[in-house]
Amino acid sequence: MKRKNCYLAFAIMAVSLILFSCGEASTNPAASHVHEYVESIEEQPTCETDGQMLHTCSCGLSYKTPISHFGHNYSVTGKDATCTSTGTKTYTCSRCGKSYTETIKAIGHNYSGTVTKNVTCTQDGTKTFKCSNCGDTYTEIIKATGHSYDSNGKCTKCGAVRSVDMKKLVGAPTDWSDISVGRYDVVHLSWWAKNNSGKTIKYYTVELWYYNRVGDGAFSSITRTQSQSLRFIGPVAPGEELSINDDVDRVPGCYKVTIAKIKLEYTDGTSDSGLYAYSFTDSSY
Ligand SMILES: [Zn+2]
Ligand SMILES: [Zn+2]
Ligand SMILES: [Zn+2]
Ligand SMILES: [Zn+2]
Repeated sequence: MKRKNCYLAFAIMAVSLILFSCGEASTNPAASHVHEYVESIEEQPTCETDGQMLHTCSCGLSYKTPISHFGHNYSVTGKDATCTSTGTKTYTCSRCGKSYTETIKAIGHNYSGTVTKNVTCTQDGTKTFKCSNCGDTYTEIIKATGHSYDSNGKCTKCGAVRSVDMKKLVGAPTDWSDISVGRYDVVHLSWWAKNNSGKTIKYYTVELWYYNRVGDGAFSSITRTQSQSLRFIGPVAPGEELSINDDVDRVPGCYKVTIAKIKLEYTDGTSDSGLYAYSFTDSSY
């Protein structure tokens, strides 16, 4: 019902319009005039605001159309950000001079590290870090790892043998401590010490060095060497004495014997070794 009324209204309007046009055409002498518009700028556009174009016909009719705003014509100046300092970007419009500045965050270093000196059990290593952006470097010390000894006192990483102050484990000589070099250059060594290790010693090995009267090396006529390792058989219980009271070598011209090192091998399979550095001189002189 409503839609029908609507059509009706539209039809009446259309008929009246035709009638009106016909009427005008018969009365207005300018009815056949074709408008010719001349354009002129009514209002200049700017970067941000639209302008207006005026279209005018000689007959006096005119209308306006918008002229789009230009938009800014920015050019950029500034400085780049670095690892540690901020940068800037300044935008300036070449047309209107409007400008604004953006701050660019510092990039931050981008370090990567390489080992420049390998760390060992006893020596510190180094790791050097370098920034891939700016080339800045710094070096970190890698602490020496220290030995990790197995039950035999041998380092599982580098093979070094734990060095113990053997004077603590066996003490200084406790009794007659002497050498004598008798007939046929036989060196007789008498040495007693105490087993302070707390363990039962299965074997003990002494490394002897021979010297003559003026302190130069004296050489074994058997091995032709200046030093000799002698391994003695225990067992020596904790607190008991270990001893050498023996003809240990034949060394012409021997005046002094030094027990340089001692190694103790215990019944539990472990061992200790280290410097002893105790010297004996020939009592027969
Ligand atoms: Zn006109
Ligand atoms: Zn502008
Ligand atoms: Zn950097
Ligand atoms: Zn080691």
